[in-house]
Amino acid sequence: MMRAEGLVILGATGSIGENTLAVVAQNPGRFPVVALTAHTDDERLFTQCVEHRPAYAVLVDEAAAARLAERVAAAGLPTRVLAGAAALTEVVELPEVGRVMAAIVGAAGLLPTLAAARAGHQVLLANKESLVMAGHLLLEAVREGGGELVPIDSEHNAIFQCLPNGDGGAQGVRRLILTASGGPFLDTPLERLARVTPDEACAHPNWVMGRKISVDSATMMNKGLEIIEACWLFDMPPERVDVMIHPQSIVHSMVEYDDGSVLAELGAPDMRTPIAHALGWPQRIRSGAPWLDLVAAAPLDFRVADETRFPCLRLARQAARSGGTHPAVLNAANEAAVAAFLDSEIGFTDIARVVAGVLETLSPETVTSLEQIVAVDAAARAEARAIIARLQGEGA
Ligand code: NAD
Ligand code: MG
Repeated sequence: MMRAEGLVILGATGSIGENTLAVVAQNPGRFPVVALTAHTDDERLFTQCVEHRPAYAVLVDEAAAARLAERVAAAGLPTRVLAGAAALTEVVELPEVGRVMAAIVGAAGLLPTLAAARAGHQVLLANKESLVMAGHLLLEAVREGGGELVPIDSEHNAIFQCLPNGDGGAQGVRRLILTASGGPFLDTPLERLARVTPDEACAHPNWVMGRKISVDSATMMNKGLEIIEACWLFDMPPERVDVMIHPQSIVHSMVEYDDGSVLAELGAPDMRTPIAHALGWPQRIRSGAPWLDLVAAAPLDFRVADETRFPCLRLARQAARSGGTHPAVLNAANEAAVAAFLDSEIGFTDIARVVAGVLETLSPETVTSLEQIVAVDAAARAEARAIIARLQGEGA
């Protein structure tokens, strides 16, 4: 059966969502936009509706959806506005849809991403948290639905491009090497880390991203989540996924083969490139990203990742090794801790303390169902909040 052409962007108003619309605009007529979705930002979603005229727009927040519906009607746009989280799944399941950009941040992306997989769509996966929480269930849904996953995360998109046939048929592969910029605190004196502010943590040296993933990049939990993401996407054990610091973010990741060859994908640090690769795949399309000037970017540096400076990297490896529900625990604890840090309730170095405490309290279980994952996610958040409250008590 031919796959329908229509595109849904889950998380359209975010950094990945906006970059996706920029690539769509570079290729007029090629990617018909069926639906755009967001959490609360009716202003930005309205602007996107004016430019892209989707058949549907979804806002999870009811009041924001009511405001958007009024403006859409006043502007005479052809867009139907839907409200609530269930509408995310509804638009994914429309018959004219064949492709879904999964770019909601965090665990909120899991259910609509699973729905896209079950529907047999091509799922362009930016929402790494859904794979970390429920990799087993998501891959099963892709298999049963008859669709495919194409990675958007720049490292995984790079590896996808460097594997034979681009499909994870990993014959002769010795290991995967994820590159990491090291974030804004790569060389910050360790004793200063406890006092860095949310704005400092969000000021990434190479990439402009949403605040949650920016903090994850500063703690390097992002790279930890990416190890787990790589294990699922490319069917690799965690011991064969290494991390290397590369502050310039020009080499987006590498595949090392048994014969000594190392394949890498290079480019300017611009998410429009992996997004265009995935949207066009197996063809190549324009992205609007700048061309790489290697002479201007040189020299390129590579260093070992330091797990003392970045304890979240060690915690993620630990969760990857214990497996089962532990990656879901790790993810939920991290989301709660990052939210508390962004609200100035805890310090930067407390993020790892919260995650370590939750991983110690909740033992890993074998994954049996989505309901179990949802329950584990809730339990880990509750435990994280208890630890956060204790830390606030100590700090007061
Ligand atoms: P962002 O914060 O800029 O945008 C998040 C989007 O998700 C927004 O459109 C928001 O409305 C929506 N959203 C948030 N909470 C929601 C909820 N509860 N229900 C429904 N929608 C909700 O985030 P981002 O930087 O675009 O990242 C999105 C995802 O892509 C994350 O999983 C991130 O790890 C991944 N990713 C991002 C980048 C990047 O360069 N930004 C790179 C690689 C991977
Ligand atoms: Mg990445």
